[in-house]
Amino acid sequence: MAETIVVYIDHSDGEVPMGSWEAIGAARSLAQELGGEVNALVIGEGVGDIAQGAIAHGADKVLQVQSPALKDFLPEPYTTATVAALRQVEASIFLAPNTGRTRELAAMVAVDMETGVAPDVTALEVEDGQVVATRPIYAGKLFSKVTIPDKRPQIFTLRSRSFPKPEPDDSRTGEIVEISVEGLEPLAEVVGYKETEAGVSLTDAAVIVSGGRGVANNPRLEPPPDITDAEQVEVWRAKKGFEMLGELAKVLDAAVGASRAAVDAGYIPYSHQVGQTGKVVSPDLYIACGISGAIQHLAGMRTSKTIVAINKDPEAPIFKLARFGVVGDLWEIVPPLTAALKERLGK
Ligand code: FAD
Repeated sequence: MAETIVVYIDHSDGEVPMGSWEAIGAARSLAQELGGEVNALVIGEGVGDIAQGAIAHGADKVLQVQSPALKDFLPEPYTTATVAALRQVEASIFLAPNTGRTRELAAMVAVDMETGVAPDVTALEVEDGQVVATRPIYAGKLFSKVTIPDKRPQIFTLRSRSFPKPEPDDSRTGEIVEISVEGLEPLAEVVGYKETEAGVSLTDAAVIVSGGRGVANNPRLEPPPDITDAEQVEVWRAKKGFEMLGELAKVLDAAVGASRAAVDAGYIPYSHQVGQTGKVVSPDLYIACGISGAIQHLAGMRTSKTIVAINKDPEAPIFKLARFGVVGDLWEIVPPLTAALKERLGK
């Protein structure tokens, strides 16, 4: 039986995270194997451009739910709208990129529709006509294989950068179906947003340069005379160290990540933390500088395609996972590396 696959297009402030387009690519692969069509679900207000973007990235049809009540993402009205759309097309598979918003949405939709959800999936296969999802578990030490055999729709949220992003084709055409939904009154109101920090999104970044406690370790770097307290000296050195990593990141169009030790010590804001209690990332290249490789850090980056570690301790556990390892002082290695890449990349 042909499947009706619906892909939730996550967006915020007109921006669509790359994972939404990757989810359309994953849906296309499933449709190819199972038969059926790919519907994109776009919810919000004034989302026509996003709907066109979904068609360009491979959707056959767009289900569009628009209302002033849906201007901002709020879990309750978005769940109501999603459930209505999924019921209308009798969806058998529902995919969404794995973001903070969709983790909440997918769980609420699953409860309302009395079905199963497999979050943070890194691969989807079809075995005997059944969709089988791969999910990293136990901080990424094991992969579990999950199916949702008897319930519909089967819900999967997909880890960013785990599925190829389809190239957009603006000449593609597709139908846009407006779905009208009652009872969207939100329980809360968003009164505004305040940006915490500009920069490349960690979860979307193809390259991440990450720093750990080792970034503060440069006794040769003399602090200004007014900074004498040992803790303040450490933070001052670490900030200089992260500026150095920031320059490397700039040359590589990379985002800057950090270990929890670096974040807890106040070297860099929490939003940069990678790991079990931070962001889970899967870039093409992850450069770990002065990071030991604790299991909780590895949980957030072990699915990176290529890992490079710079650490002065040859026994550091990060080297067990790294494809390339440089044993040495990051303060001596990073500046010439940045200079060489700058020259090589003509930046
Ligand atoms: P360290 O372990 O202190 O390692 C510093 C490294 O820098 C060492 O390997 C050292 O050899 C090297 N080094 C020192 N100086 C230099 C130099 N000049 N040049 C090169 N190398 C140098 N951690 C996370 O990262 N993310 C999480 O999400 C997270 N969640 C956690 C959740 C829980 C419940 C718990 C208990 C812990 C969690 N942790 C997390 C903390 C984790 O256990 C480690 O403490 C942390 O990852 C260590 O950070 P680090 O590697 O920067 O520091």
